[in-house]
Amino acid sequence: EQVHIVALLEETVTTFQIAYTREITFKKDVSDEVVLTGNRDQLEQVFYILIDNALKYSEDKVEIGIELEHKQVLIKVRDYGSGIPEAEQARIFDRFYRVDKARSRDTGGTGLGLSIAAAIVKEHQGEITVQSKVGEGATFVVTFPIV
Ligand code: ATP
Repeated sequence: EQVHIVALLEETVTTFQIAYTREITFKKDVSDEVVLTGNRDQLEQVFYILIDNALKYSEDKVEIGIELEHKQVLIKVRDYGSGIPEAEQARIFDRFYRVDKARSRDTGGTGLGLSIAAAIVKEHQGEITVQSKVGEGATFVVTFPIV
């Protein structure tokens, strides 16, 4: 399946913008023509998980961007929330792993979202990484090779 990744991301962002009164911005630095080979529903699920987390673990704005870099497409989801301690950053992609058990229990969730996202990204020959400092929020970056 050929997926127009910019339109797909834009649609997902719009869905959240309608559902939330929060500030959710979208910055597009790439042509609408960019196409990935993959499963549209699964890729949508990745965006959904990352944006949902960004909203859930922060109270300020959420910034979403898409850009090209070295024949790869980069999707960034940035929040200004609690952030993720460096020591935990690798483990958040594990199944059922949650950083702050007590606080996370309040927010709900199973700890499965990021492990599902990581599996889908891997299936699409991509990479998912996180950059974060405690108290300064988190940026999740998903990278896919383009056709
Ligand atoms: P669910 O998948 O059911 O929504 P979850 O959000 O706990 O539950 P994951 O999406 O796998 O599960 O996230 C794992 C853990 O990583 C979360 O419990 C949270 O501690 C941490 N985390 C994920 N995204 C962020 C974020 N944007 N900011 C801070 N912590 C995060």
